[in-house]
Amino acid sequence: RPVQLPITLSNARYDVVIGTGLISRAGALLAPLLPQKNVVIITDENVAARHLPKLHDSLSETNITFRTLVVKPGEHSKSFATYERLVNDILESGVERKTTIIAFGGGVVGDLAGFIAASTLRGLPFVQIPTTLLSQVDSSVGGKTGINTRWGKNLVGAFHQPLCVLADTAALATLPWRELVAGYAEIVKSGLIGDPALFEWCEKNGAAVLDGDPEAQIEAVRQACAFKACVVAADEREQQSSNGRALLNLGHTFGHALEAELGYDGRLLHGEAVAIGLNLAFALSVRLGLCPQTDLDRVTAHLTRLKMPTHIRDLAHTFSAKGLMAHMQRDKKMQDGKLSFVLTHGIGQAFTTRDVPPEAVQDVLLADG
Ligand code: NAD
Ligand code: ZN
Repeated sequence: RPVQLPITLSNARYDVVIGTGLISRAGALLAPLLPQKNVVIITDENVAARHLPKLHDSLSETNITFRTLVVKPGEHSKSFATYERLVNDILESGVERKTTIIAFGGGVVGDLAGFIAASTLRGLPFVQIPTTLLSQVDSSVGGKTGINTRWGKNLVGAFHQPLCVLADTAALATLPWRELVAGYAEIVKSGLIGDPALFEWCEKNGAAVLDGDPEAQIEAVRQACAFKACVVAADEREQQSSNGRALLNLGHTFGHALEAELGYDGRLLHGEAVAIGLNLAFALSVRLGLCPQTDLDRVTAHLTRLKMPTHIRDLAHTFSAKGLMAHMQRDKKMQDGKLSFVLTHGIGQAFTTRDVPPEAVQDVLLADG
């Protein structure tokens, strides 16, 4: 039986439904929610090749008519060019205000399709069927949508909440191993931010999640979504500079710098950068005397046991501490010339601060490289 996690926000209420085989039941699950039995599916080539027939069959069985738009896989599809092509296609096909957009894929498809839904005719109904672990645990809750620009990632977008999210953990069986592990890093992140019981659960069950154990996967997605939902409900539009959604960036200031340095070419996945970033955030917290060394050791041990990269020196690329510092300073989270960081007092005790001496950051980077 699928698990239903209700998400309650000031202007929206929807369920994240988590289970195996949901793609094949999508028609029946969505029919009661759709304003009109007519949808546009946006997906990418990899997902289409593996999972689209199941979705088509289940929509047909419930007399939901559909059109399918397929984009190239990868971050490059979150672009003005792809956005323009798809919106024109949707308008040309005679879209109506009650046509629902279905995002069927990972976070790239989710962000792109979500932004198309948010902006076309000033807002179309939207459903997420996330097919990567990352998108199931992270991008399916929170309502952020958007595309990239030459000035940086995710700089054009909107908040747009779905009618419903169907997280089918069976889809994860076809996901490349590295992508699965990268998504798992975001689950660990949730525990480390504010849910020590979730981190303990990961220590016991993380291997089962990665081995494809259905119950462990469902439970991991449920816990991570529930945690994110709590944080998001308290700070829906990311207006609080401390606590609130900013905490979700634990490990991300370092992670984004590593990604930016490598240029998003697939050598380093976002979740892999986050795994190293989590370790660095704990290391920096230890160095500043804020966090016990034993907590850092637990984080490193867990990530290492599941074969995640934990140190900059694990990567087949040499980084200069200066280059990484420069990226961090350019990070849009920087305000008043001071670096904003999420640090921690220990497992599940993250907090935001803008009092981090750059020398300490540099020392931690040098020690890790
Ligand atoms: P992705 O969408 O690029 O998917 C990763 C790869 O897996 C792609 O090649 C894709 O084609 C393939 N794939 C997807 N599902 C598959 C399946 N079931 N089987 C086989 N292959 C499959 O990447 P992602 O990691 O899911 O998402 C990253 C994106 O999400 C980034 O653009 C990031 O900015 C965004 N994001 C958004 C939010 C948010 O709140 N909106 C949060 C986190 C990340
Ligand atoms: Zn992330």
